[in-house]
Amino acid sequence: MSNAAVVNYAATKGSVEIRNIPLPLIGEEDVLLEVANVGVCGSDLHQWTADHSWPVNYPVVLGHEFGGEIVELGSRVTGWKVGDRVVSETAAVIDPNNPMSRSGLYNLDPTRKGFGYGVDGAMTRYVRVPARCLHHVPANLSFEQACLTEPCCVAYNAVVENTRLKPGDRVVVLGPGTIGILCAAVAKLCGAEVAVVGLEQDTGRLNIAKQYGCEAIIGNATGWSKERDGLGADCVIDAAGASITLKTAMELVRPNGCITKVGWGPQPLGFSLDPLVQKNIALQGSFSHNWPIWERVIALLASGQLNVRPIIGGVWPITQWHEAFEKMHKGEVVKSVLKPV
Ligand SMILES: [Zn+2]
Repeated sequence: MSNAAVVNYAATKGSVEIRNIPLPLIGEEDVLLEVANVGVCGSDLHQWTADHSWPVNYPVVLGHEFGGEIVELGSRVTGWKVGDRVVSETAAVIDPNNPMSRSGLYNLDPTRKGFGYGVDGAMTRYVRVPARCLHHVPANLSFEQACLTEPCCVAYNAVVENTRLKPGDRVVVLGPGTIGILCAAVAKLCGAEVAVVGLEQDTGRLNIAKQYGCEAIIGNATGWSKERDGLGADCVIDAAGASITLKTAMELVRPNGCITKVGWGPQPLGFSLDPLVQKNIALQGSFSHNWPIWERVIALLASGQLNVRPIIGGVWPITQWHEAFEKMHKGEVVKSVLKPV
């Protein structure tokens, strides 16, 4: 039995193709998951265009935003059964004895390996998943939506756990990609007034931010940030994926405000960090998510308080991965979703 998969096979640009891979063998603490849907992430695009900044175990099946049904259980798996509807966290390999893991922050274990770069991911029909990564998906939540639990968890961690927001805070989100828009949606849930900032070519994606009740700004957000008392935004969430936007964030934030950086960009900085000192700004990085965040986000998705439908630009069979990747890469859609063939 074989399995069509979207495989990233080398470190050179464009090294992604459909390959038939054998059915994965599961270990005693794993389950075999039949994938229902898998989201395309900015990081999948970065590995495709070879401008990523993390080590990849080539060849690897892409995809870490997924959900589906359990079809087989390892001999030592308890608490799960065949047919359970689940989504999976991304930390496929961790060292359970690492001090970060032991304190519940296994997402920050430096030896962590994730699906889609460290081990085979979910852009295929069957994927091997350690049972500790699983979360139940309620029957009323479709897999097309549930597969986007992961980016929602990235946003929840950035906005709720790593930023202290108060109702009425003015929040600027830089970057109208999936993470930017979801950060904006979560900040709205926290009672903030939110503006999402993008470029001229981002008009389509900014219109989706408006569906979450956000202000959409093309270019300079200084006016909106300073509208109240002339001092700037309470918080800037940087989800733009380039180092240079930190400069903009430092300009937009008010004295004693905060900046949370969730977008990656490997480029070196070429500007002074003095405004950080002068304005007494708290600069916070935010990376991934852990178990309690997943449980909370699934509850928000199931209750409809957090709705991912507006960001889903389409669902493609994995054999049409190229079109799905291309549309997201060009910013024609915020999020592409795939389904196995
Ligand atoms: Zn992702």
